[in-house]
Amino acid sequence: MGYDYVIAGGGPAGCVLAGRLSEDPAIKVLLLEAGGRDWNPLFKMPAGFAKMTKGVASWGWSTVPQKHLDGRVIWYTQAKIIGGGSTINAQLYTRGNAKDYDAWVSQAGCPGWSYKEVLPYFKRSEDNQRLVNAYHGYGGPMGVSYPVNPVPISFAFLRAAQEAGIPFNDDFNGAEQDGIGHYQLTTRDAVRSSAASAFLGPARRRRNLTVRTGAQALKVLIENGRAVGAIVAASGGVETIRAEREVIVSCGAIGSPRLLQLSGIGPADELRKAGVAVVHDLPAVGANLQDHLDLYVIAECTGDHTYDRVARLHRTIWAGVQYLLFKTGPVTSTLFETGGFWYADPEARSPDIQFHLGLGSGIEAGVAQMRNPGVTLNSAFLRPRSRGTVRLASADPAAAPLIDPNYWADPYDRQCALKGLRLAREIMRQPALKPFVLAERLPGAGLESDEELAQYAYRSCKTDHHPVGTCAMGSGEGAATTPDLRLRGLDGLRVVDASVMPFVPSCNTNAPTVMVAEKAADMILGRPPLPAANV
Ligand SMILES: Cc1cc2nc3c(=O)[nH]c(=O)nc-3n(C[C@H](O)[C@H](O)[C@H](O)COP(=O)(O)OP(=O)(O)OC[C@H]3O[C@@H](n4cnc5c(N)ncnc54)[C@H](O)[C@@H]3O)c2cc1C
Repeated sequence: MGYDYVIAGGGPAGCVLAGRLSEDPAIKVLLLEAGGRDWNPLFKMPAGFAKMTKGVASWGWSTVPQKHLDGRVIWYTQAKIIGGGSTINAQLYTRGNAKDYDAWVSQAGCPGWSYKEVLPYFKRSEDNQRLVNAYHGYGGPMGVSYPVNPVPISFAFLRAAQEAGIPFNDDFNGAEQDGIGHYQLTTRDAVRSSAASAFLGPARRRRNLTVRTGAQALKVLIENGRAVGAIVAASGGVETIRAEREVIVSCGAIGSPRLLQLSGIGPADELRKAGVAVVHDLPAVGANLQDHLDLYVIAECTGDHTYDRVARLHRTIWAGVQYLLFKTGPVTSTLFETGGFWYADPEARSPDIQFHLGLGSGIEAGVAQMRNPGVTLNSAFLRPRSRGTVRLASADPAAAPLIDPNYWADPYDRQCALKGLRLAREIMRQPALKPFVLAERLPGAGLESDEELAQYAYRSCKTDHHPVGTCAMGSGEGAATTPDLRLRGLDGLRVVDASVMPFVPSCNTNAPTVMVAEKAADMILGRPPLPAANV
């Protein structure tokens, strides 16, 4: 069968596009995903996230040694499964600040992407179980709900943050982002609502949509300045698949610049260095990498207040039974379901620190596990000024890319991140948490100076898994993609995923990626944009 659109990459963006484009039965769509299916029940269980940063359904990549983090090499989970990050992430549903999107217009030159213009696309994808107002809606494909079973320590955390001067906010995705509260989650009835289940599920029986897993795009095929298809490795061998209208690259902020560079599209000097024949010299591909870096405080609890208590076998079994029979208990928790947004820089235009309360210790790869039950408070600086790169190590499509987020290259990032860590510590020391928290274990007593905290950060920091910007859109010639997401200088080729965001939004990046793909679908289909919101 021939295809009108070939989409490489079945992450959130690829699933949204496949679902939306195939709504028209006259359009034939192929979605290619290098990873496998999401049949394992662990992917549906909110608490399954605990396994996900440790290598399950991931490419197994790490950063290059980080020059400004004392040479640390950081484990860098990137999803390799249908649904991409939305199948393995912590399910936090955050949209960031209105000013994030307004800056895409005013600073990156992307007309059409202001907050008022993107809000209708956030709403279109959403099936919010609780909120219906100017900011939220229901009836969309993606389930959004509040935690079903918050534990007492999470309420104590909310009180502690207010004692530390941070107001309560019941909806970070509404009129105000500032404050502390429970997150909205991409879950529906205590089951993960990944982009695959939300957008491909309803499209399952469409004859005009083909979804192939275990199929890795090795190259975008370019003929006479136009993308005409892809070379794909699947179980049956290597094949060439043609696209009549467009090839859409949706391989994520690491995978998309990787695939483009493997196709000879990128900075000519870097391509030659890697042994790739240059097809189209485009220096912006793989540049401008931005990510959020997480620092954290871990405290030991006075008792079994977090899900560390479930780690014992008989309790794990009971938690599983409880979930399967009643959809209640620990398995319904995404383990990070409380947090908020506040300021490191008092002059910042909107919150520049995000907190995530982890209901345990050692939840994510590389994070210390306490012997007794623990609680973790992550803090991430949200608007880094440092810029990194994604480059090829070689022309071999099996080789891991060189991922260099270049964290803390700009001293401002370090300064704000350390302030965020101090804020997290302050919250954990408030009276409301006293009945729950025995003592801070990390960074630990005695580490007070900026230098001591920076040394602690070098040893312990981790990615917040929010890479963006590596095929950034913009109106200048220097941008990799145009504001309608076409790759500059080649026909028939678009990039649609987190890589096109010119600046990282001040939040987790799944909902913004879904929004980008929702808007891209209208652009590709030649539909007028949804009317701007009146907020
Ligand atoms: C562990 C983790 C936790 C996170 N937690 C949250 C959270 O709680 N909330 C939130 O909002 N965000 C979270 N994020 C971030 C969020 O999931 C990402 O921003 C989002 O998934 C980006 O979507 P994407 O479509 O751009 O790319 P990806 O999700 O990276 O998807 C790209 C897909 O393309 C496939 N692919 C790559 N190369 C090829 C190729 N050559 N051929 C075929 N297929 C290919 C990949 O296998 C992958 O499935 C988390 C991410 C991770 C990894």
